Amino acid sequence: MTRSSAPHFSETVVLPEYPAVRLYIFDADDTLRRTVVPEQPCPRRPGEWELLPGVSEKLRVITWGTAGARLGVASNQDHVAYGHLSADMARMLLAEMVFAATGHVPPGDALAFCPHSLETDCECRKPNPGLLLRVMRTYDQDPRNTLFVGNSPVDAEAARRASVAFAWAGDFFTVRNTKR
Ligand SMILES: [Mg+2]
Ligand SMILES: [Zn+2]
Repeated sequence: MTRSSAPHFSETVVLPEYPAVRLYIFDADDTLRRTVVPEQPCPRRPGEWELLPGVSEKLRVITWGTAGARLGVASNQDHVAYGHLSADMARMLLAEMVFAATGHVPPGDALAFCPHSLETDCECRKPNPGLLLRVMRTYDQDPRNTLFVGNSPVDAEAARRASVAFAWAGDFFTVRNTKR
């Protein structure tokens, strides 16, 4: 039986390349999703985004939920502060994204985002570690069993400040590397 033909391992809830990881936290924009609106970095309403290549193929192999691995999001959504969308809409779009990627809906607290402006001195805006700490608290998970996947240097720095492992999205979703 090949790995790709086995959507369910009876006990496997982790990826073989990350054997210790029980909590995966993902950046949203340009890690799991991208906008389909030119010149707009983040979606503001349904229909303005799509999953990036390789995301659902990779994430649907993992068993999610109480019997499996945990999933969280840590996303800077400063366009909430600038009035482009409401905090409720930002949260709903993140939930839609995770459901499209995994077929699973995590608890709302695991979809962590910073709604503040660039000028705000908050503890949640990456590269500060607040969002990652919040998701780990939600699941009562240790940094040693947590991996943060992102596409930006602020993501890498947030992981460092939260003492969690970091993977670049291009490495984690390897299909993107092979297309380069
Ligand atoms: Mg990003
Ligand atoms: Zn913030």
